[in-house]
Amino acid sequence: MAEPLLVTRWTDPVTGVKGYLVVDRLINGFCGGGIRMRPGLSEEEVARLAATMTLKLALVDIPCGGAKGGIDYDSNSPDSREVLKRYLEAMKPFLLECWGTSEDLGTREEDIMSILFELGVRTSVHAFIAKSPEPETLVNNLLQALQLTVDGMPMTDVVTGFGLAKATQAALDFVGRDPAQTSVSLQGFGSVGGSAGLWLSRLGVRVVAVADAAGTLCSPKGLDIPLLLEKRDKMGVISRKGLPADYELLPREAWLGLDVDVLAPAAVADAIHGGNVDQVKASLVVEGANIPTTPEAEARLLSRGAIVIPDFVANAAGAGFFGAVLQGRARPEVEDILNYLGAKLADNTRVILKLAREKGISPREAAVELVATRLAASSG
Ligand code: NAD
Repeated sequence: MAEPLLVTRWTDPVTGVKGYLVVDRLINGFCGGGIRMRPGLSEEEVARLAATMTLKLALVDIPCGGAKGGIDYDSNSPDSREVLKRYLEAMKPFLLECWGTSEDLGTREEDIMSILFELGVRTSVHAFIAKSPEPETLVNNLLQALQLTVDGMPMTDVVTGFGLAKATQAALDFVGRDPAQTSVSLQGFGSVGGSAGLWLSRLGVRVVAVADAAGTLCSPKGLDIPLLLEKRDKMGVISRKGLPADYELLPREAWLGLDVDVLAPAAVADAIHGGNVDQVKASLVVEGANIPTTPEAEARLLSRGAIVIPDFVANAAGAGFFGAVLQGRARPEVEDILNYLGAKLADNTRVILKLAREKGISPREAAVELVATRLAASSG
């Protein structure tokens, strides 16, 4: 991995908690990437996530470099909002000048937006908007889009999982597999996993297992995803009270080795690694989380003939949402935004799978080639 352009370290003056901002690169003076909060988060993880953001933004045609914010803290702590607020206050110069941000693991878009408002910053993508020729129109469009809800959930909590489902559908189509004959096991039931589960089940895919931080829930005939969404708390943990009696409660790591066709890791980094990859039975892995498969594990999956759709292809709809609204690719309306993102994610998935097949390379290598072509075209 190339050295990032900029690494900023932060120490919370109240708690001593550490935080980071890594800018992988600037394009046109801008960079974009969400803020992660989890205990044990390292600068190295934030840097890997920032590099992935450069690839992701290029694939959804957003002309800016990748970045990532991170705070090494438990988002379930009662004071996590205050810690996030002090972090954002310290990062305000970057937010005003060059960094557009959003939610990630352990943070919520509405918290980021409300804190920024308290700090006198109108949106999480202030820098782009302030330097655009029509800032007022863009602010209005963005605020309108951010208020949209789908199935009672905020749009920003829906789009990434929706895009993941569309990427999965395109990959199944590419290998000639009927969604109705396909089973999936999901890790994570937060913004990404919850929405992915819902949209995959709407495509006819059987979601047989869902893991959250408390364990894996499994039902071979398919879980009732709307019911699980009703029972989910703010941090994506499903209440086990009142679940159908035939649901099995398995250990947290059990989601990985089940006899399913598709794995969709949508929680933590390095979930599939050298020590557990041999348990995987699925032939398709669609990465909802950022960097959920280690390079060693991915190589072993590919050597067995499995397909891995990389994170920056499969989970790009959250980033694509901002591009759609700020670059006028979709009106700030649910149907328009979902149509644009669904088509974009499906198209990218098809293109990289076709390129990978033609050149005998992995989908990740094909996607990196595609990014290089797009970045060269946009700079030249
Ligand atoms: P979230 O905080 O909303 O949800 C995380 C989910 O993972 C929860 O259900 C939690 O219980 C579960 N979880 C946590 N640790 C776990 C473990 N060890 N085993 C099983 N489950 C565990 O997070 P999110 O926003 O859905 O993000 C999930 C992943 O997707 C992250 O890697 C994030 O970087 C990536 N991502 C998020 C977005 C977005 O728009 N939110 C966009 C692109 C990528």
